[in-house]
Amino acid sequence: LLTWKATYHQKYLDATLLLEGRGRHDFKGCTYCESPDPLYRCIDCHGHWLYCAECIVERHRSEPLHLLERWTDDDYFEKCTLWALGLRIQLGHPRTVACPLVKRGHVDFVVIHVNGIHLVDVDFCGCPGSLDNFEQLLDVGWWPSSPLEPQTATTFPLLRLFHNLNLQGCIPPTDFYRALEQLHNAEGLVRLPDRLQQFMLTVREWRHIRMAKRAGRGNDPGGLNTTAQGELAIPCRSCPHPHINLPQGWEDAPSNTQ
Ligand SMILES: [Zn+2]
Ligand SMILES: [Zn+2]
Ligand SMILES: [Zn+2]
Ligand SMILES: [Zn+2]
Repeated sequence: LLTWKATYHQKYLDATLLLEGRGRHDFKGCTYCESPDPLYRCIDCHGHWLYCAECIVERHRSEPLHLLERWTDDDYFEKCTLWALGLRIQLGHPRTVACPLVKRGHVDFVVIHVNGIHLVDVDFCGCPGSLDNFEQLLDVGWWPSSPLEPQTATTFPLLRLFHNLNLQGCIPPTDFYRALEQLHNAEGLVRLPDRLQQFMLTVREWRHIRMAKRAGRGNDPGGLNTTAQGELAIPCRSCPHPHINLPQGWEDAPSNTQ
């Protein structure tokens, strides 16, 4: 650490500050269409290149939960979102297809993801024979907090992350959720709807389904409701089990050494 500090710490600080500004962007125009004065960049995409509003929205139809920044007239980046630039997320169709019989999602629809808490505009598919709204959400890996008129969804990667942090790092759900709120909104300038209760409920549903999945309940023709008492239990690794961690002939040993 001392060598690094003596030789390199200034360079690391300079590089960090460079990224607070426009970095090494060549200022020739939007990285994609070359139109002049690109103002937007994505902090979740690789590289920090600048784009015009149209290109950055178009390039994020398959990454609708990335977070943006906008270069202001006062020469600094302010936080910005794809939602603010008008991105609507179409479910139930491939990403470039707009549903002809679209059903608008709730106006305060919230998605909880690894990079923070997002307000989004969701369009459900209303074509004949389309799936229920909650199933359209599950189809893209968003866990709806309720199967009826969902207003909140939590992404599968976030649920996996929380499961690990909670079990390995003992992070309580409330602290985890509050930290997520601060990720893109540390100043509290944006009023996000509070969906902590929905998140807690989702975590419990996720654990229930993971437990059933790991016990093979998804492959039983009888379904989850035919699960018998004790079927989800996990054998203890350190207890002795015949044919696994007991020597052969253990049952014939004298009872005082068994
Ligand atoms: Zn462009
Ligand atoms: Zn991005
Ligand atoms: Zn449709
Ligand atoms: Zn045991």
